[in-house]
Amino acid sequence: MKISVSQPYLTDHCKTHAIKAINEEQISGLAGSYIEKFEKEFAKYIGVKYAVSCTNGTAALHLSLIAAGVKSGDDVLVADLTNMATFFAVQYVGANPIPIDILLDTYTIDPLKVEEKITPKTKAIIIVHLFGQPADISVIMPHLKARNIKIIEDCAEAHGSKIFGKMVGSIGNFGAFSFFGNKNLTSGEGGIITTNDKSAATRLRNIRSLAFGIVGNKFVHEEIGYNYRLTNVHAAIAFSQTQNAENLISKRISVCEKYDELLNNFKELVLPVKRDHVKNTYWMYHVRIKEPDIICRESLTSFLSKVGVETRNGFVPYSQQNNINKKSNFNNPNANLCAKTTFYIPTFLDITTEQQQYVVESLILAFKSIKK
Ligand SMILES: *Cc1c(COP(=O)(O)O)cnc(C)c1O
Repeated sequence: MKISVSQPYLTDHCKTHAIKAINEEQISGLAGSYIEKFEKEFAKYIGVKYAVSCTNGTAALHLSLIAAGVKSGDDVLVADLTNMATFFAVQYVGANPIPIDILLDTYTIDPLKVEEKITPKTKAIIIVHLFGQPADISVIMPHLKARNIKIIEDCAEAHGSKIFGKMVGSIGNFGAFSFFGNKNLTSGEGGIITTNDKSAATRLRNIRSLAFGIVGNKFVHEEIGYNYRLTNVHAAIAFSQTQNAENLISKRISVCEKYDELLNNFKELVLPVKRDHVKNTYWMYHVRIKEPDIICRESLTSFLSKVGVETRNGFVPYSQQNNINKKSNFNNPNANLCAKTTFYIPTFLDITTEQQQYVVESLILAFKSIKK
């Protein structure tokens, strides 16, 4: 048996819309009908007034930071444990990312650590809803708002997740989503930004397409723009996925709840945490080895690989990235621990129960083999 860690799930509905988009013959530019259809459908799904599509999740973060008014020399507080795209976006605008440690139960930003790091230079915060778990910053929201610190939610791994009844992407000033091949919703590559701020939405639409002149001469540009346009064909796939979001996401949740059940009595692993006021969409089934021992993880995952079960190690935090973070020596113990002890197992929508059972049996065998 060979089970890959992730596989795309594209329905006939997706294919029909992609072909319709090709038949429109708007192969590039923003004139194809699916750009607007996708944006309207996604805004409705998240429960915000505006959604602006772009090429990918990294671009969505970059554009959000610009729209939040973050400039060179500003500080941006960022959850340390994430895909490094979150940090790169801060570096693209010349700002200083300040990595904040995470909580060990949810792997999301620790709000009390945020409070300690706020200074007059703090312009924005990026919270990351990692592995489908919504970050809870409710205790510091009033404080952030009072200081006019803009909140950007990195929702790349959490389409459809909710906290206190609110969809992620509708909580802060901006929500940045990715539609990469392995995300909860996908169009291969793709991204979208959600916001309730009308003037920010107008500016986002402009700068994602080279900031062409709006009144008068098109070639007298409004400001520095970017070519972050999504194509109509990708928008058609993303539109289809958004229309079917609840179905696709509930399939993913079922797969992960099956793992919860199969691993329930297995004490060597810390499973994704359950919280009452939260809808977790998981993204990938991500686990932590209780034993804080990196050799243990490498022997486990190589055993799994030999028996055909593909895994991925958890993220390495920014504070440990010596090639891209030369200036500062941050130390965040929880993020560090995760870098050594987490990994994720095959999670895709049409994985069979037999395959899931095989993954779990292999995991148990893997632990036995290294404990000898
Ligand atoms: C995937 C991901 C991104 C980047 O999205 P792309 O579409 O790959 O550019 C950003 N943040 C997080 C947390 C991600 O998982």
